[in-house]
Formats: sequence, C-alpha cells, structure tokens
Amino acid sequence: MDAATNGENGRRGRGVALEASKPLRVTIIGGGFSGTMVAIHLLRQNRSVQVDIVEPRLPGRGLAYSTSYGEHLLNVPAIRMSAFGSEPLHFLHWLQAHGMPSADPGLFAPRRLYGAYIQDVLETTVRSAGPNSRLRHHLTPATRITFDGLSATVYLQNGERLEAGNVVLAPGNPASRTLAECLPGYFPSPWQPDALSQLAPEKDVLLVGAGLTAVDAFLALLSQGHTGQIHILSRRGKLPQVHAPYRPLPGPIPISGKLSARALLRSIRSAVRTAQSKSVDWRAVLDSLRPVTNDIWQQLAPEEQQRIFRHLKTWWDIHRHRMAPEIGIKVNEALARRQLIVHAGRLQQLRATESGLQADLHLRKGSQFSLNVERVINCTGPDSNYRGTENVFIHCLLDEGYAVPGATGRGLRTAGNGVVVDIEGRKVDWLLTLGPPRFGDLFETTAVPELRKQAEAIANHLLSITREPIEVMPELFIAAGI
Ligand SMILES: Cc1cc2nc3c(=O)[nH]c(=O)nc-3n(C[C@H](O)[C@H](O)[C@H](O)COP(=O)(O)OP(=O)(O)OC[C@H]3O[C@@H](n4cnc5c(N)ncnc54)[C@H](O)[C@@H]3O)c2cc1C
Repeated sequence: MDAATNGENGRRGRGVALEASKPLRVTIIGGGFSGTMVAIHLLRQNRSVQVDIVEPRLPGRGLAYSTSYGEHLLNVPAIRMSAFGSEPLHFLHWLQAHGMPSADPGLFAPRRLYGAYIQDVLETTVRSAGPNSRLRHHLTPATRITFDGLSATVYLQNGERLEAGNVVLAPGNPASRTLAECLPGYFPSPWQPDALSQLAPEKDVLLVGAGLTAVDAFLALLSQGHTGQIHILSRRGKLPQVHAPYRPLPGPIPISGKLSARALLRSIRSAVRTAQSKSVDWRAVLDSLRPVTNDIWQQLAPEEQQRIFRHLKTWWDIHRHRMAPEIGIKVNEALARRQLIVHAGRLQQLRATESGLQADLHLRKGSQFSLNVERVINCTGPDSNYRGTENVFIHCLLDEGYAVPGATGRGLRTAGNGVVVDIEGRKVDWLLTLGPPRFGDLFETTAVPELRKQAEAIANHLLSITREPIEVMPELFIAAGI
C-alpha cells in the first residue's frame, strides 16, 4: 500500500534530527483529543521537550467534547474511553472520583465530562512533567506553514510565528459538504453557535442527515423544550442502531473468498446468521472486526475501497456508530408521538418563503414532497475530502505540495506512524498526522480507541528521533580505569 519513498536527501525529508542536548521541539496544530494526547505522551516521558499547541479553544475538548448539553452522551462505554490503552480503568476511576461514585464500565457518560477528563489529564501531566519540559498553548488558529529545507515555520492568525521543529497535524474532520446556498434559516452545521438558538419552540425543523450528528441536534432541540416537528432526511432514511450488551466473539469472524466488498458483505451476513442461530447478538459480529478493520482495508484494491464507499459505507455506519441506549429510548418515544419523522430521499431544492423555508424533497419511493419549516440544518457529518475544506492551514499544505489527498480522495496520504507523504511521494519526516486526516490510508480513524494508539505512536516516534545526552555513571569511569 505504501509506495512512499524515504526522502532523506529530498527537500521535504530533512529537518527532524536534533543535536544532542537540544530539547525536542514539537508544534501541534489542533488541540482536540488527538493533539492533546500527543502532547500528554510527549510530556509524560520525563524528556527534554518543548511542545506548542495551536488551538483556538481550550485544549482537550475539540468538537466532540465541547458540547454544553448534558444530554449529549458518549457513544462508547466508559470502559473503552480511557485516555490510555494500557490503563483501561483510568476514565472509569476518574468518573468515580469526580462526582459519579457509582459509574460502571458500561456507562455512556456525558461528553462534556469526557472533555473535562482530558483537560484534567493534560493539566496533571503538565504539573508533574520534568523541569526540561514545557507546554505553550496558542489560543488562535494556524494559517500557514513554510519549510526552508531545514526547518518549518508555522504562522498563526494572531500574527505570531513559530519556529516549529516537528509538526503534528491534528485538525479533526473537515466540515460537511454544502447543501444549499446561504439562505436565512439555513445552517451549514449544527455546531454553529446560533444554529439552534432563537428558534420558536413550536416551529418545525428539518435536519438533513440521519447519523449521530442529526441525533445530537435532535437531543439539543428536545433539551431546549422544542415542541414542533423535527424532520430528518437521509438517502436511506435509517437512524443509527442502538447499543446493547452482548457476549463478544473470541476473535474476528473469517472473511471467505478473495478479499472484496462483496466477500466482506457476504461473510458478515453469513456470520450474523450463524450468530443469531446461537442467540449471539449481531453487534458481536460487527465489533469482532474492529481490531482488524484497518488491516483488511489496506489489503483491498482501490476499486474495492470505492465500492465500499458507494454501496456499504452508510449501512456500516448505521450499525457501527451506535447510539447509547438512553438516547435510543428518547428517539423511539419521539418517533412514536410523531414529533420526530424520518424521510428517505434527498433535498431537491430549498427556497425562502414568507413564513420560513420550503424544502422540496425527492423521496426514495419516487414521489415529490414539500416541507415548510422554520429552519434547515445540515447534519450530514464531515466531508472527509480535505480539498473542499475551509481550513486555510490544510489548504496551504495541499497548495504547497507538503500533503496530498489519499487514494480515495479522503483524508491525506500517510505512511506508518502517520508520517505525511508529499506530492512527490516522499515521506515528510517533520510532518505527522493522526485522526481524520489518516482516512487517506485507514478506514477506522476517528474514535478514541484508535486515536489514543496513534497519539502514543507519534509521541514515541518523535522521542525516538532525538538523541538524549548520555549519562555516564561514575562507576563506569572507575571500571574503565579513567
Ligand atoms: C459529535 C461527536 C461525538 C463523538 N463521540 C464520540 C464518542 O463518544 N466516542 C469516541 O470514541 N469518539 C467520538 N467521536 C469521534 C471524535 O472525533 C474523536 O473521539 C475525537 O474527539 C477526535 O479528536 P480530534 O482531535 O482528532 O478532532 P477534533 O475533536 O475535531 O479536534 C480538532 C481540533 O483542531 C482544531 N483546529 C482545526 N484546524 C486548526 C488550525 N488551522 N489551527 C489550529 N487549530 C485547528 C479545532 O479547533 C479542533 O479543536 C465523536 C465525534 C463527534 C463529532
């Protein structure tokens, strides 16, 4: 899969080796979970490191854990959300010590608490870091990067310039694909601060997209006392499945035949049928693949990967990215009282009317249908193609050729440990990435269990390229007769 060459003699491939006794300098762009965890691992090792995090919010929360709504729960149980893979109980113990003494491993905790947890882990790490470590936070976005053949310089929106050393790119997901032109009442994202505010509670709303982002918007509306109808529109009209306890399988299910999209679907269906005949839950089958999903993905031919995107990805997402059971109950109750209505189809046109917005829908069954609503919110989730991103820093990386999109057009092309691959196919040793940019090569790269591993691997990789001063024990001098 990785055809990148190591550009040791190339322009992009130099600049990481440090002289003995100089601290390792790392500039992290983006301080969500991913960037913060890289910083934590760098600072934990008691080595000489200088870390700069560039992040316009408080580090540790990112998009997912900045929510102010207590109803927004993690979609992964507490036992799998530890910041550290080697200490699975770390988050659970933190919850128990911070106001939730009866928290159990299966708890789906509020996401804003998870943000507080990661912030706390960072603060504790900084307090106990050695005297040669330093962390600086720059509360502003990064806008540009240059590399002069020896070192990188990162330019910040507030006018600062950082001599960067090594750069870790942790910008999270790109925004959703645009659905409609700018109209009053249309919001391109539910995360926009005013997307749900100043909305009369009895008015109807259309959420486009039916994944966990739409469920988040639905929960936020309910929590602010919304009584009007909430319409959800997606191509297939399917909401995410709900979590339920199950007995895990001993290992991944086998994939029979030559690896392809069709072989995968056939193997999963057959394993689900076998499991159900033994009263084993389908979730056990799907989750058994988690540890090997990225390996399978990297063995698939590019045309098979594209086939998966076209035909299987929505189906996979519905089953893989599940709602917490408490949220499933709220969704089902709202469906039963017809406050929540799900449509299968696509948005054909959106226009402003005297009383709000008219959304013309083309339903999957072939009929046309118009909805009059007060607000339309794009909840289609991230568009993993960085070419269309509004993030000027990533535009700069692509324009300068320091990075290129992955083979399927998603994410960025990367090699092992998240080293970015440039337009000429060379590894850019001073530029590493993790999280959604790794969609260029991976299939699973957004959830905490994968990200914590990537963050630790990046920190270890960076620490391994520095040469620490060698401490010579006095007894060695004596033994050598010096
Ligand atoms: C609503 C939601 C709920 C989720 N729930 C779960 C869950 O329950 N469990 C789970 O495992 N995963 C969950 N996820 C997946 C989630 O993406 C990861 O857990 C993780 O938070 C991703 O972290 P990140 O740091 O890669 O990205 P983000 O959290 O998006 O952080 C990226 C950060 O980069 C900053 N940034 C971007 N560009 C720049 C720039 N140019 N300069 C400076 N800073 C920049 C942004 O401000 C942002 O804070 C959820 C995701 C979402 C969106």
